[in-house]
Amino acid sequence: MFAKVIIDQDARAIDKEFEYSVPNSLNVKIGMRVFVPFGNRIVQGFVVGLSENCSYDISKVKPINRTIEEFSAIKEEMLEVMKFMVKKNHLTMASILRLFLPSQMREGKVKEIFETFYTLKVENFIPKSNAKKQRELIEILKKEKRCSSVLLGEKFGYGTLKTLQQNGIIEKEKTQVDRKPFVIEKEDNRVQLNQMQKLAIERIKDNKTYLLHGVTGSGKTEVYMNLIERELSAGKNAIMLVPEISLTPQIMSNFKARFGDFVAVLHSGLSAGEKFDEWKRIFLGKAKIIIGARSAIFAPVENLGIIIIDEEHEQSYVSESNPRYFTHDIAKFRAKHNGCPLVLGSATPSVESYQNAMDGNYELVELPIRANGKELPAIQIVDMLGEIRQGNNSIFSNQLIADLVEVINNKKQAMIFINRRGYSSFMRCRDCGYVAQCSDCDVSLVYHKEDDRLKCHYCGKQYKVLTRCPKCKSENIKYGAVGTEQVVSKLKELFPDVKVLRMDNDTTSTKNAHQKILNEFRNTLPCILVGTQMIAKGHDFENVTLVGVVDADQSLFQADYRSTEKTFQLITQVAGRAGRSKDEGKVVLQTYAPRHYVYKFVSNYDYKGFFRKEANIRKTANFPPFSRIIRLLFSDNNENYARELLKICYTEIEKLKEKYSSEILYLDAMKSPIKRLQNKYRFQIILRIKLEKADQIEEEVFNIAKKTAKTNIFLEINPSNMA
Ligand code: ADP
Ligand code: ZN
Ligand code: ZN
Repeated sequence: MFAKVIIDQDARAIDKEFEYSVPNSLNVKIGMRVFVPFGNRIVQGFVVGLSENCSYDISKVKPINRTIEEFSAIKEEMLEVMKFMVKKNHLTMASILRLFLPSQMREGKVKEIFETFYTLKVENFIPKSNAKKQRELIEILKKEKRCSSVLLGEKFGYGTLKTLQQNGIIEKEKTQVDRKPFVIEKEDNRVQLNQMQKLAIERIKDNKTYLLHGVTGSGKTEVYMNLIERELSAGKNAIMLVPEISLTPQIMSNFKARFGDFVAVLHSGLSAGEKFDEWKRIFLGKAKIIIGARSAIFAPVENLGIIIIDEEHEQSYVSESNPRYFTHDIAKFRAKHNGCPLVLGSATPSVESYQNAMDGNYELVELPIRANGKELPAIQIVDMLGEIRQGNNSIFSNQLIADLVEVINNKKQAMIFINRRGYSSFMRCRDCGYVAQCSDCDVSLVYHKEDDRLKCHYCGKQYKVLTRCPKCKSENIKYGAVGTEQVVSKLKELFPDVKVLRMDNDTTSTKNAHQKILNEFRNTLPCILVGTQMIAKGHDFENVTLVGVVDADQSLFQADYRSTEKTFQLITQVAGRAGRSKDEGKVVLQTYAPRHYVYKFVSNYDYKGFFRKEANIRKTANFPPFSRIIRLLFSDNNENYARELLKICYTEIEKLKEKYSSEILYLDAMKSPIKRLQNKYRFQIILRIKLEKADQIEEEVFNIAKKTAKTNIFLEINPSNMA
């Protein structure tokens, strides 16, 4: 017998199947991990095929050393996923297979946790009449059959345990236990579904992609839970993906409350051990519902009855660092493979997904009203230039302050959204224009007042604050655009007696910090929560009656063809946090561009109107989803080398222009907007191509790139971040 093995090393040069012989003593199956001789070393590999014969010179074939586990860690479906991703995402097989396993397993550091338990050995033993503790302990063991040693020891004393064990009355045993990620317990809050929800659930049943467009608060989560419940009772399993930032304790608690131990959660907040144990529960079929961020799409779950992607428009479903993939593609593949429905849910679907629905590729299912019948909160647009004309130079408009005062007087809560952390976006010398920059990245540093440091938001490096310009020695320093820290400190000046909380990357870096902030917010009246994107999603606070957007334009004017779409999505999401319960909600939106079309549509909650306008603009300008953008990013510590690679590649790609003259709409090579990142120089080639032959051209471009450079080159499709 011979095996085809993929070596567990992410290198293009060895990205192929190697053949080995299988010794009779080994029970090797497809999907198993093995140790094999490679060169003069022993390395890890994955068995992806078995056959009776070998195409390699039999006299030279080496035998597999041994198996790593006695089961197939990579299940058959996942091997299919791998093949799909090789084709679709141009990734090496090893880099894909690595996505399918928890890091603990690959590093060979699997640590299982064992707990000691006691059971009763002699059923009819009667302790001496004065041995009260012994008697009680035995009573408990009679009832429970099996009890943890810690529990018994703490209650009856470890001495008691020892005596009974030594006398052969009770017996000790060690059992492996799973680490369970911490989830707050709560009661299941089951509601009577409304007509719209029932209809949605009835419609979502075939092996198709459904776009569930439901306004914020329309009860999408309840629809998801009912869909999952239906599949569960049909003996099937489910995956539900949520963006990392909206993977709130709340969502996990809700699912645990309804489905108990059938739920496994996978997210970046877990320890390696917790991840491994959850993975194992899924692998063994103990967990039936997987809730997680992007990478949970690779969970080793079989027999899927449904896949759900909540907040499907979120950018976090695109893996932007290597290995690069788009979660929707993989979800579609797995749904097809399992013959089950895929649900894409959102209050603000991506233009691409909605266009797919318009084109009939997806089935559109709508939930147009809030589940509790409440109106969506009114959105008032405030022109900040007008404020300046009236002499108000503060970061808050008079309207926002008046509304905050009302919230405070009514002992309610407000959320203030500002999508920039730190105190101010940069520090600049007013006299010579010098801006403090990161020494490793060509980006300006952000001022953090709390720890009085300048920080690079790209690489994390920290610097001393600028008190005097290093160039012209002037002490006349200007602060850039407002960030969360500054909003908090200004609010504290305005309302010294009111609790003001901050939630952003800086305040949530420690474990469970998220939860603590949200709990404090929930329990404080009145209270103001200032935050970045993190506060925009998923939260359901009944006392929030006001949402303020300090700088709505922030995401609007960026070199990204999706910037308007993103602004619409973000504002709709934050607005949806207000007035979710009995009290009326309101949104104050501050902008310097009040006449921009996005604000007209967003303030009327007119998604469809917005979509029509936006799709029209993109169609006219030939932008995705009506074309495809390919970016090739070259980066290297050596600037000349990176430039050289770029040139060679570009010359080759230019030749494609002759072959595909009418399909290639745009082609150019340039320095990246961020010219240097973590000391690597960056160049890029950008192509925009028509959809008709897009796959073909993409393949050719990729082959050119692969030929030119073995590393330092990234290929991205429709990148949202062109920096
Ligand atoms: P979405 O995810 O669409 O924004 P949620 O699923 O968070 O909305 O639901 C918003 C609120 O409405 C939740 O508090 C939920 O419990 C409640 N809800 C959902 N469905 C119903 C229903 N049929 N009747 C009453 N309340 C409901
Ligand atoms: Zn200066
Ligand atoms: Zn940096």
